[in-house]
Amino acid sequence: MSDLKTDLPQVHMYDTTLRDGMQGIEVNFSLEDKLAIAHALDDAGIDFIEGGFPMSNEKEAAFFERVKNEHFRHAQIVAFGSTRGPGHAARDDAHMRALVEAETPYVIVVGKTWKAHVEKVLRCSHEENLEMIQDSLSFLRSEGRRVFFDCEHFFDGFRDDPDYARKVVQTAYDAGAESVVLCDTNGGTLPSDVIEAYHAMPEGIPLGGHFHNDCGTAVANSLVAIEAGATQIQGTINGWGERCGNANLCAIMPNVILKMKRTCTAAPYLSHLTPLSRFVAEKANIIPDKRQPYVGIAAFSHKAGQHADVIAKEGRLMEHIDGAMVGNERQVLLSELAGRSTIVDKLKPYGMFDKKSPEVGKLLEELKLREKNGYEFEAAEASFDILMRKTVGEYRQLVELKNYHLETYKTADTESKTVGRMFLNSEAKEIMGAAVGVGPVETLDAALRDALRAHHPWLSKIHLVDYRVRVLNPERETAAKVRVFISSSDHNHTWDTVGVHENIVEASWEALVDSLEYYYNTFVTERP
Ligand SMILES: [Zn+2]
Repeated sequence: MSDLKTDLPQVHMYDTTLRDGMQGIEVNFSLEDKLAIAHALDDAGIDFIEGGFPMSNEKEAAFFERVKNEHFRHAQIVAFGSTRGPGHAARDDAHMRALVEAETPYVIVVGKTWKAHVEKVLRCSHEENLEMIQDSLSFLRSEGRRVFFDCEHFFDGFRDDPDYARKVVQTAYDAGAESVVLCDTNGGTLPSDVIEAYHAMPEGIPLGGHFHNDCGTAVANSLVAIEAGATQIQGTINGWGERCGNANLCAIMPNVILKMKRTCTAAPYLSHLTPLSRFVAEKANIIPDKRQPYVGIAAFSHKAGQHADVIAKEGRLMEHIDGAMVGNERQVLLSELAGRSTIVDKLKPYGMFDKKSPEVGKLLEELKLREKNGYEFEAAEASFDILMRKTVGEYRQLVELKNYHLETYKTADTESKTVGRMFLNSEAKEIMGAAVGVGPVETLDAALRDALRAHHPWLSKIHLVDYRVRVLNPERETAAKVRVFISSSDHNHTWDTVGVHENIVEASWEALVDSLEYYYNTFVTERP
């Protein structure tokens, strides 16, 4: 990156996934998750990690206790809390003391900036609010902490009374705040107003920005704030946070580093971004947004056949950056729109084929037929791999079913259970397996493993990480088909398979067998 703007100040990335992010719908992390995420953020070159509010509950307090003994390469841990309350000294405030006891190098204090909140929430004078900010920051400084200040509801306050908002900023700076952060707490501000506000701030004060996405402009607001002088930007991984979320660091970081060419601790680690986004999603047990800029699975995916032709030859004509820069990868999606060139591309591991090869025509036909019947291979590349192997003669069968039998029973005073058994041929041996489980799919999986286990010790490494069912034509009610997707993992690789049938058990069976056969064909080399 030769054209780096080294004459402009470095932009510091401040992550609040573990505090503001956890205010978001469906977002919850255990203590162990929080520690693991903190390390992943550190690996990605994040400068500051807000760990939470030490007074809010035991889990938060335990995080600060544990994190003291952890080593981070780049990141500084920050404790978050509000200014002291009115009518007493910071020194005598329980929240202030909890912030000191968190023993973090940095503390961020949030305080009122909007007069209406001072009047209606704090119920004290505008002047006392300024004293509270001054006293709180000075106290923390006297305890040896480095401090930042979050101007809560800054943009509403600035609209209401710009002079008072400026006074708050000046007071925090004078009391020792190393960054005074203008917060769009309600998320209702547009980029043009953000620029105006930054330009109206007193000269020489290091400013930060904290934006919520209620107008869909949190990332845009963060970028214009940087252009208008902000040197610290707060956001969350995947943009999670209260209501519509916080500014998404997964979009801000590549924009700042690759497009704005600003210096940033995270620049050499940008390829960690996509794995980081997915890791955090996995910890929260939230399916990642496919269409997320930069890090989504669809961010560098291409569907149309003709388009795929150009991509194969000249990727940069169809993509704004190389996805590898952010740790993502190009996907040429399989679909009936896919042309022969996509298939040729997919077949590369199995030899040299061209658009006229009979194998290519046969696969294209098979793909169209299956898609008509409800299959979708875009999210089930491992099932497509099995199809390719069958077509080019590189397939080795693991499971040849003779029969399976499942029975679910329930009595008035017991939970329902499913028992199952199956007979198979595998590698010229007749084998059988049996299992008891809660539901039919779990039992089927367990019985299949039971049958194969003795001959295939590698099976113990493989586990199911996701199982999704979609009803395809619900207007036909009971005759509806279901499509089952299964994600499997051996800790190093993850692969997806698909099955379609009117019977959910049979659709699951198909996806399960594909999953094991994919692994067997791809990774199991030693064969009896
Ligand atoms: Zn916030």
